[in-house]
Formats: sequence, C-alpha cells, structure tokens
Amino acid sequence: SLAASITTQQKPSIRRDHSKLARPIELRSGEVRDGVTGLIGNTPLIRIKSLSDALGVTILAKAELLNPGGSVKDRVALRIIQDAEQLGLLVPNTGSRIFEGTVGSTGISIATVARARGYDTTIIMPDDVATEKVKALEALGATVERVRPVSIVDKKQYVNLARKAALEFGTSSQLNASDASRGASDIPPFVSTSELAVAPANSKSPSAARGFFADQFENKSNYDAHFEGTGPEIWSQTNGHVDAFISGAGTGGTIAGVGRYLKSMSETTRVVLADPQGSGLCNKVRYGVLFDEAEREGTKRRHQVDTVVEGIGINRLTQNINLALPIIDDAFRISDAEAVSMARYLVQHDGLFLGSSSACNLVACVKLVKKMGWCNGERVVTIMCDSGTRHYSKFWNDDYLRQNDIPIQASIVEEMLGSP
Ligand code: PMP
Repeated sequence: SLAASITTQQKPSIRRDHSKLARPIELRSGEVRDGVTGLIGNTPLIRIKSLSDALGVTILAKAELLNPGGSVKDRVALRIIQDAEQLGLLVPNTGSRIFEGTVGSTGISIATVARARGYDTTIIMPDDVATEKVKALEALGATVERVRPVSIVDKKQYVNLARKAALEFGTSSQLNASDASRGASDIPPFVSTSELAVAPANSKSPSAARGFFADQFENKSNYDAHFEGTGPEIWSQTNGHVDAFISGAGTGGTIAGVGRYLKSMSETTRVVLADPQGSGLCNKVRYGVLFDEAEREGTKRRHQVDTVVEGIGINRLTQNINLALPIIDDAFRISDAEAVSMARYLVQHDGLFLGSSSACNLVACVKLVKKMGWCNGERVVTIMCDSGTRHYSKFWNDDYLRQNDIPIQASIVEEMLGSP
C-alpha cells in the first residue's frame, strides 16, 4: 500500500531503490487530482437550511468558494488559458504574460492557473477594491497595477489599460488594430480567443514570449466554462429538477452559460438576475433600457456602479451579457443594506461566511420565492461565488459600512422572510 511504501522509504538504514521509486504508485481512482487545476470545478451543492426551512422551498447553493483560487472565476481562468494553449497562442514556460483588467477574483484565478502552467501575470485593477485581494495577487507573484476608477469609455479604465498593456508587451500585434485605437465602446465585438494574443515582431516561433489579453468580459471561453461545466454539474446534481436559477452578472459569463444550459435542458426553468444597487442591468431586463436609477437622477457618472458589493453589477453591455439577456426571465434589484443583512443572517443561522455577491444572490432567491408564492418544496439554485475572507476590509467591515451610511440590520432578512 501507499502508506507501507512511504514508511519503508523513510527508513534511513535502507538504501533507496530508485527503480522502485520511479514506479507509478497505485492510487485509488478518483481520489487524486492532477495539480492545483485538478481542484477546479466539480463543486458540491449545499442546501441552505435556514432559508429553505423558513420558506418551505429548497434553496441550493453551489459552493464555488471551494475552488483553489477561492472563487467561481477559477473555472473561467482555466478555460481561457486552456483554449489559448489549444490555439497555440500561449506556450508554457516561454516567458509569456497574461494581462487582465479585473476587480480581483478573476485576477487571483488567472494568477493561480498561470503559475501552475508556466506564465506570468499582470493584473490591472481599480484602487478602491478590498485590499485583501491585492495581497493575494501579490502573494501569487502577479504584477499588480492599481488605477483610479473611471468610466469604461475612458482609455484609462482598467480593462482598457489591460488591453493596451497586452498589446505593448509584443512589438507587433495580432490584436486587431481597430481594437487598439478604439479605446472602448458600449458594445465591443465578441473577440475570438485567437484575436487576443500578441506576438513579438517577425516571430513565427511558437516558443517566443507573447502577451495575452484574457478579456473575461468579451471572451467566449468564459461562457463556455459555464455552459460546459457549471451548468451540466448543476443539472446532474439536481437530477434535472431546477425551478429557478439565480445569479448576479459581472461579466455575464455565469448567468449566460449556466442559464442557457439549463434552459436548453428544461424550458420551464426560470433564469433570474440578482442585480446590486447602482447597476443598470435590472432595468435592462425589465424595461429593455440600460440605466441605473441614480444615473437617471443625474447623481453619478455613467458606467460606474455604486455599491459595496464587489464582482457583480455593470452599466454596460458585454458580449457575455448579450448572450444572457434573451433567456433572463426576471431581475431583482438588491440594496447594499439587504446584501449586508443577508450575509450577517447566514453567519448567525447557518455558520456560512460568504462574500458580497453570494449574499446578493441569496437575497434574490428569497425575493423570487416570495414573488412566485412558492412554498411547496420548489427548487431554487444559486451560486456562492466567494467567501467572506475576500471582503474583510469593506463588506465585512462594520466601520467601513457605517462611514458609508450602509445600514447593518439583521432584521431586514427576518422581515423579508416573514412578509407574505
Ligand atoms: N462574484 C464575484 C465575487 C465575482 O468576482 C464575479 C465576477 N466578476 C461574479 C460574482 C460574477 O460572475 P460573472 O462574471 O460570471 O458574471
């Protein structure tokens, strides 16, 4: 057995027999995964006991926080890099560098997978995101650039800067020229993965260092990771019985991929958007127009989402969101106070310590169940995107919330559950 052979090898008096060491060790099939990327995906679904019992339905949450990089974004990072490798755009251990603009989770996932596969990473992010994400990125060896948050139409916006940095990493570009000069527009074209690589001038060598722009917002590999991974996993874990699937949208990859997969298997499954305050998507779903209430009142600049919730909510249309819009049946706008309250409620009743987007998702679950009048075991599935440990400095920091006038009232959820 494995245990016996380890004991034998550790005895100092016995000479090591290298032919024996080289022999493959017998392992129980399915129990050993191959490296850190072997830990990505195949996450469990858990029943949220407090909410399910209070409502008389079954609320199931997919534990994406168990991925090695700590969030649902591991799946996307892995798929983006695998697709690029398959196209020969990234070759391991050639000094190639992956660039991304992100509020954090995707960067951590890319840095994790990149290290495991032999690439360097540059992450460009707004300077107001929770500092623990920056620390994680630095620990993973990523180069981090923090920039002032500005509107997506600004060339200095973090996604636009990441695109530009990838372009400049090579001396000539396979990235289309219009993309480089364009800066950004509301609806950029869906870029195929092959358009995202930047090769050094005159280099036909596959081993030359390349810059690669991961581009989670527009890259279809993001959608594919969920259409071929998360969606089918949920389907088989529920034996094909899902009354509703609820998710927020940051890039739109999760709700588009999982939503379209579940709809393709069962037309009656409702796909529902959980949208934080300050995001325009909820209104896009309800009225066909992308606008945020505060934006309409003229109190804030377009394209900036004003919420303590990180990772979801957006004020522009990405191609991944465009894939989701036709199949979204309903949308709920979730206030910061509701998300904060839900997170506190779940710790108190279930011992679940969740991040802000997960809390938003679960508020939307309660709102949907109430709106539909469900109380007979209907099955609602959502995502636990990441854990509270990514959110100590803002969402889980009572001082920060008070300073920003965000109420911390556990009773908000109790009232929500109690109301008819
Ligand atoms: N939750 C967190 C913590 C995230 O970082 C993200 C992605 N930005 C999401 C949810 C939303 O996922 P998607 O990009 O697939 O819409």
